[in-house]
Amino acid sequence: MTKKKEEFIPLKGNRVSMFVCGPTVYDDMHLGHARTYIAYDIIARYLRFKGYSLFFIMNITDVDDKIITRAKEESKEPLELAKEFEKRFYEDMKELGINSINLFVRASEHISEIIEQIKALLEKGYAYMTETGIYYDVTRFPDYGKLSHQKYEKLIVHRIEPDPTKRNPADFALWKKEKPGEPSWSSPWGKGRPGWHIEDTAMTTAYFGPTYDIHGGAIELVFPHHEAEIAQAEAATGVKPLVRYWVHTGLLLVEGQKMSKSLGNFITVRDALKKHSKDALRLFFASTLYRSPIDYSDYKLDVAERTIKSIKASIASFKALKEGEKGKELEEIARKLFERFIEAMDDDFNTPVALSHLHSLISEMNKFMEKNNEINNSSKRYVLNVVNKMLSIIGIEEEREFDEDLARNLISLIVELRAKFRKKKDWDTSDWIRSKLKDLGIELEDFRDKTRWRLVKGSKVIVGE
Ligand SMILES: [Zn+2]
Repeated sequence: MTKKKEEFIPLKGNRVSMFVCGPTVYDDMHLGHARTYIAYDIIARYLRFKGYSLFFIMNITDVDDKIITRAKEESKEPLELAKEFEKRFYEDMKELGINSINLFVRASEHISEIIEQIKALLEKGYAYMTETGIYYDVTRFPDYGKLSHQKYEKLIVHRIEPDPTKRNPADFALWKKEKPGEPSWSSPWGKGRPGWHIEDTAMTTAYFGPTYDIHGGAIELVFPHHEAEIAQAEAATGVKPLVRYWVHTGLLLVEGQKMSKSLGNFITVRDALKKHSKDALRLFFASTLYRSPIDYSDYKLDVAERTIKSIKASIASFKALKEGEKGKELEEIARKLFERFIEAMDDDFNTPVALSHLHSLISEMNKFMEKNNEINNSSKRYVLNVVNKMLSIIGIEEEREFDEDLARNLISLIVELRAKFRKKKDWDTSDWIRSKLKDLGIELEDFRDKTRWRLVKGSKVIVGE
């Protein structure tokens, strides 16, 4: 909004509310999405590392023209098609190690909030109805264009399909009246479905209130999407600003070109992960500042892969050092490099600079190991702790050992807890526990007097009662 770095001060003490535009689930996630969502995952990890209590919401657009078009092509129900791609989206997010989002919210499940917001806009005179739908009159909102720093006259040029019933070419749809074969919901204006922009502000107003801390998304969403969000929310609630800090991720290019299906350089996350590891992808993305453009190539990913391997090899050798006396100096170096890492991250999440301090630390560890084959235990622990913290902020995690006994005991405990809810006939809670366990790969089977559980972990199947 201000086109410069701003000091970050959350609205409510130590609490941070963040919303990031999620996918329209009509196709598989591509590398552009991966770049954006990994950037916010790192931002979320870092905010939590700094001690903020972050609530991070992402929307799932499961009602949209693109979904309807593809569903028609495949002779499927639009909502069914959306559900399939939403499932694949979660699978991809998991493969990318993106696990910082507290809540995914579907547009189709927030129709009543959307209707409320449109009602407010109609009552206040910001919206009008025609025979095709309800539109936002952008000439009624003098701030329109304040995020993208554009004048109204310029905005008109961007419109692709002007609806002849609209007052002004730049007006956008809030509600689209029902057309045959499209999903629709009842509303005070007859059956129809929401426009795209309104879902985000209906959700954020419901979950966060009229103002919240951070709104993220890819740079191409600034106009018209985020501009429309500001117009909707600030007009409907009467509170300014909708968002205290706008954060946008830069473009992803593939070997110097914009990624597109017509150019044949369209890469899905699934395809990328067949060739490269999640850690290499994350290291590659983090090597560029989130808001700068980034140029993807297989060659660069191969380089990232080798870097990851050498980092992991250094850590493994370092762990194998025997107990000895030396290491205080290295511990001091690690302390300083970690401070600089944090300074870089504090400066607008500057991951490339932060990573340079990780690389320095690894090279210092290598130098240490050239001269020594032993280290004192507390320095060893400290250095490893610093490396692990740096890596976990970037989202490159060490392979964790699986503690089967602990897993078994925890699952039994949760199943026992669920039995207590069942005894009290609290079916909502017991079903919620079942579905949450299912997300973790733990299946339950209820019998009259017991519940059997089953966890598949790699090639291992663990069962219990
Ligand atoms: Zn959005």
